[in-house]
Amino acid sequence: MRPVLAEADTRESLYLPDGRNIEYEIRFSTRARSARLRVGARDGLVVVVPAGLRREKVQQIVSSKAEWVAARLAEFDSVRHLIAQPVAARPEAFDLPALAESWRVEYREMRQTSVGAKTNQPGRIVVFGAVEDSEACQAALRRWLARRATESLPPWLMRVSVECGPEPSDISIKNQRTRWGSCASSGRISLNCKLLFLPRELVRYVMVHELAHLLEPNHSSRFWDHVRQMDRGADTHHGQMRDAWKLVPAWAQRAAGLEL
Ligand SMILES: [Zn+2]
Repeated sequence: MRPVLAEADTRESLYLPDGRNIEYEIRFSTRARSARLRVGARDGLVVVVPAGLRREKVQQIVSSKAEWVAARLAEFDSVRHLIAQPVAARPEAFDLPALAESWRVEYREMRQTSVGAKTNQPGRIVVFGAVEDSEACQAALRRWLARRATESLPPWLMRVSVECGPEPSDISIKNQRTRWGSCASSGRISLNCKLLFLPRELVRYVMVHELAHLLEPNHSSRFWDHVRQMDRGADTHHGQMRDAWKLVPAWAQRAAGLEL
C-alpha cells in the first residue's frame, strides 16, 4: 500500500477541446514501455506510463491526445442510456423538438426485400417493404431522419449565419456517432442529423459554436468570447450539451454508415 499522499499525487487534470476539464489517474508501471491511455465507463481516463517518466512528459502526451479522449468519453455518454433503456424494436411515434414536429409511424408489409420510409401526410411516416425486419425499419427511419435534417438544418444555419456574421463555404449533414457538428479548415460546416431531437436553443448553440470556429479554429478564450457574443445563454447551453445524447432515441442512435 502506498501512502495516501502519493495516491493524491497521481491525479492530474486535462482540458478537453470542448472546454471540459477532466481528472485522470497516472499509474506508473515498471512493465510499461510506453505511455498507454485507457478510457473506461467506471474509471474514466487512466494513463499507464513507464516508471520514472517525468510528470511534464506525461502531461504533454495526454494533452496531445485530448481529441481522442473527448471522442472516447462521448462514446460512453452516447451509449450509457442504451444500457438502461430497451431498444424499441419499431418506433410507433417520435418527436423532433428542433422543428416542433410530432411524427407517427405506420408499417406496411409489401412484397419486396428492402424497406423504405416516406412522409405520407403531415405528421405521418409510412415504412414499407419487408417490415418484419425491425433492423431494416430502423435503418429506413434513420435515412428518413437524414433527409428531414438535410431539408431543415442548412437553411436554418444560413439564417443564424446572416444574423451572426461568419459564413460557411459549404454545409453538409451527417450522422456522426460522437459529434454534433464540426467545422473544417475549408469553411465547411457539418451538422449531425440527430440535432433534430434537441430543443431549438441547443441546435442554435451548436450552429453558433461551429460558426465561431470559422473565426477561431480552436477552443481558446477568444473563441468562447465569439460564442458568447452570438449566444447569450452559451454557458448554460454548453453545460446542457453534455447530457443531450440522452434525448436521442435508441433507433436513431445507431451509426448506420449514413454519410450523405
Ligand atoms: Zn468546437
